[in-house]
Amino acid sequence: MKGKWSRVFAAHKRGMQELHKVSPKLFPIITLFAVTGALIPYVTVFFSAKILTELALLRRAEVLWKWVAAGVLCGGLLAVVNALLHQRYETLLDDIWGRKEILFCRKMFSLDYADVDKQEIRDLRNQIAQMENWGSWGLGRVPEFYEACVKNAIGILSGAALTASLFSSPVPESAGALTVLNHPLFLLAFAALLIGISLLAGRFYAKSAGYWSGLAEDATLGNRIFAVFGEIGSQKERAADVRMYDQQELVGTYWSETNNLFGAKSDYGKLSKGAMGIYAGLGVCVSTLITGFVYAFTCLKAWGGAFDVGSVTQYVGAATALASNVYALLKVCGDMKINTAHLERTYEYLDIPNAMYQGSLTTEKRSDRHYEVEFKNVSFRYPGSEKWALKNVSMKFRIGKRLAIVGENGSGKTTFIKLLCRLYDPQEGQILLNGIDIRKYRYDEYRDIFAVVFQDFQLISQPLGNNVAGSMTVDEERAKKALIDAGFGERLNTLPDGLHTQLYKDFSENGVEVSGGEAQKIAIARALYKDAPFIILDEPTAALDPIAEAEIYSKFNDISGDKTAVYISHRLSSCKFCDEIAVFHEGTVIQKGTHEELLAEESGKYYELWHAQAQYYTE
Ligand code: ADP
Repeated sequence: MKGKWSRVFAAHKRGMQELHKVSPKLFPIITLFAVTGALIPYVTVFFSAKILTELALLRRAEVLWKWVAAGVLCGGLLAVVNALLHQRYETLLDDIWGRKEILFCRKMFSLDYADVDKQEIRDLRNQIAQMENWGSWGLGRVPEFYEACVKNAIGILSGAALTASLFSSPVPESAGALTVLNHPLFLLAFAALLIGISLLAGRFYAKSAGYWSGLAEDATLGNRIFAVFGEIGSQKERAADVRMYDQQELVGTYWSETNNLFGAKSDYGKLSKGAMGIYAGLGVCVSTLITGFVYAFTCLKAWGGAFDVGSVTQYVGAATALASNVYALLKVCGDMKINTAHLERTYEYLDIPNAMYQGSLTTEKRSDRHYEVEFKNVSFRYPGSEKWALKNVSMKFRIGKRLAIVGENGSGKTTFIKLLCRLYDPQEGQILLNGIDIRKYRYDEYRDIFAVVFQDFQLISQPLGNNVAGSMTVDEERAKKALIDAGFGERLNTLPDGLHTQLYKDFSENGVEVSGGEAQKIAIARALYKDAPFIILDEPTAALDPIAEAEIYSKFNDISGDKTAVYISHRLSSCKFCDEIAVFHEGTVIQKGTHEELLAEESGKYYELWHAQAQYYTE
């Protein structure tokens, strides 16, 4: 038990700090809203009591109207301010569900690439999203809890201030037996009774909430099932398979009443009807006992002559509000306890350390593009894999020359490029830039040396020009030239909005859906626009037919100019014009040379691959 509550408060305090980063006005507004909201009922109780006393006893008109005016003014003013704050609060609260995504986005963009690829990290992110979207737990609940804590704490303090004299005003001696109400022991016992009932109500609520958190694992699974199967219908890439193979039947099983983890027949459903619901009901019942006891105590004291009728209104109103604030505070503490586990999962994700990109050396800016990169005995295994994807690879890139990397699928070509771009670090050996280990350089500057078109490149639903520039500001002439050089010129002329044409239809009905081949040309244009010293094409032409591919490669020969170019392909015919060809096989470089040199080695892999492909084409 020890430390449990400090964990709860620490987790929520951090939650406030995290949300404050993306919505700085939220918590000040909540504080003002909660304070004004908490005071309203007490202001009403206080002034009503004063007015009632004046009406019942002294009946002085000049005092009475002052109380009425003060009550209306204070109550009215508070209500107006509270209503205005409420509008602001609601807007900020709606906004926070989107704003907190900024925290996750920033984290996702800054993660080490190797971490993005890890299944457990993706699972963690999915779990957090499911908790938030389906269970409404996590960071998004923090503002609501904070509001409830402030409101209830103020409610308790104001209630205590207004009820203090309930205990201190003595019943006169003339009241006989009722003077027992003055006895300190009686007062102590009465206070203990009220506190005890409040705690008991809180305990019942916690017990009920405990059942819910006990089901958390099932609920997470249930949420995951909904997340996966609930979405299937709207995924267009699945639409054909779903229809051809009647997959809706497979999906439907997960929604059946017996399988549904939240249905009436589930554990959750049974507990709701049973213990969980009963405890929640008991909590409410017990807390209303407080109102009964306060009524009895106040009325007996007033009967004995301790105070007037106005004070009865004040005490009963204030004590009832006090009790409901205590109950609400205990209830919110119970919810915060449940939320703590979810918040801790969230922080586990937000705190994933950046181990890779810590270099501080500035990359030399060279107008002659003389960046010398060398692999020295590099070996690499993917995280969690036993197998070496690259073993003992040494390679020096010749500045301004064209290197082709060929080899069968799975021979390590893409891995080689990913290491070159420092998406992963090797476990053995070194990659050097101008003689210095690339890990020592600032990553953002090192990255700028390379323009890569990966096999699985991605364009985004933004205008064409922005996609090419990779930025919100576009040098239009440069973007057009890059598109024309990449072979997209003719298509560009058919687009009515030119560079301003929205790609895809996500945000605009006028967006264009580009074909796989067109998308590749745009991706190549993006690499050309970047105008980096190295240009790398990792089988970017996979969606093109061999003729179109040969066209792009021969064109590339011209446009890569003085850049160091690396082409990866398993179609050897596209690579024969390169200055050097490296043949990868099972993670190692087994041959290196020009097309002619390699073809002359009749026992070599290149010879074998070349003839296998030539045969394939002639057949
Ligand atoms: P190529 O580009 O020549 O087709 P890759 O570099 O993609 O080959 O793959 C080299 C080896 O590394 C293959 O055995 C492949 O299965 C493995 N591999 C590739 N990506 C991953 C990954 N993310 N996790 C684990 N193994 C991988």
